[in-house]
Amino acid sequence: MSQEPNLFTPPHASNEWLEQFLIPSLVAASPYKIDTTTTPVKLDQNENPWDWPENLKDKIVTGLRRLPWNRYPSAYSDDLADLVGIQAGLTNGCVLLGPGSNYLVALVMSTFSRQNKGKMVVARPSFALYESHCAYDGIQVHPWNLDVNMQYDTSLLPELTEGSMVVFASPNNPVGNVLPYKTLEALATRHPDVLFVADEAYLEYSKEPYTPLLKDHANILLIRTFSKTLGAAGIRMGCVLGAPKLIEQLRKIRLPYMVNLFGLVAARMVLEDIETQKHFKGIVAKGIAERDRVFVALQAIALKKGFQVIPSEANFLLLKWPNQSDCDKAYRHILEQGILIRDVSKGPGLAGCLRVTIGTTEQNNLFLAATQSS
Ligand code: PMP
Repeated sequence: MSQEPNLFTPPHASNEWLEQFLIPSLVAASPYKIDTTTTPVKLDQNENPWDWPENLKDKIVTGLRRLPWNRYPSAYSDDLADLVGIQAGLTNGCVLLGPGSNYLVALVMSTFSRQNKGKMVVARPSFALYESHCAYDGIQVHPWNLDVNMQYDTSLLPELTEGSMVVFASPNNPVGNVLPYKTLEALATRHPDVLFVADEAYLEYSKEPYTPLLKDHANILLIRTFSKTLGAAGIRMGCVLGAPKLIEQLRKIRLPYMVNLFGLVAARMVLEDIETQKHFKGIVAKGIAERDRVFVALQAIALKKGFQVIPSEANFLLLKWPNQSDCDKAYRHILEQGILIRDVSKGPGLAGCLRVTIGTTEQNNLFLAATQSS
């Protein structure tokens, strides 16, 4: 389509000029990139492959119609936040909602690194947004590297000085490894003056939640999302769980009205509507069964082709080739078969690695066949 004749572009701003107003690490950093290639099979974003059934969507639309759209929604959605808390076993005031956990990760990192004390310790490799947010915000990162088997090892933690913050995901994206409950408990006990931020985006595919640790530890924050296991990435809803005093500080910085009416109605359905809950329990169980099936099938292929599959407790698997050119070749071949997976090989500690999201049985079989023929 040709451009409208009256459109104009404001003058080009040089980096030097921008740096009068912005920190150089923000100007130099790359924006968050998403591959927008359209393929018949999309296994690159760790989404749940099953959309909501029509009747559940209809219920949401009916619920939305009843609400006044000319009015602001609740400023902080406290009722819904408290409901999330109660379902996790927490009293009121222990949960803050936000428009997706991406935003909440950034909020927590910015808010708790303002005191200029301690270190920002970030798991590596882990969710790329943690380190890119630090670059945008001018926060120096002290990496917590995974061990040679791509597992968490507390002996590899940088020295945790007073006021430090440790940010990690469990299950960890893009690897799928977890930090055992007992290990976090021991860390939080040993370091009461360090804040541990656990991103549990893939919680339901995995392990026991860390929630009971909040009972005795004010120095743990948990971040969760409706996007992955709950199959609701489109509603943009996430939450932070922790001690009321910490939540109160985050609430000051989080702007009012960030959760819109659609998110409020849909999230309430996920939490309260029995039919919706049954649907989500079903898709979580299917997702886990498919992940385990694909892992076994991939291992057999990996043995023949010379790559490695890392065991995962999330809805994705990490494949690791001993050299980058074989990894690139496999990625291109899989893409040529119409399947988009995530090339994570440029990330720190991820040379030779590709990540595939678990899809429907049919999608997974197509992926297995493409990998077999690569
Ligand atoms: N945390 C982790 C570990 C993730 O992998 C993702 C999404 N890729 C998110 C948070 C963000 O999820 P959302 O913003 O959709 O809640």
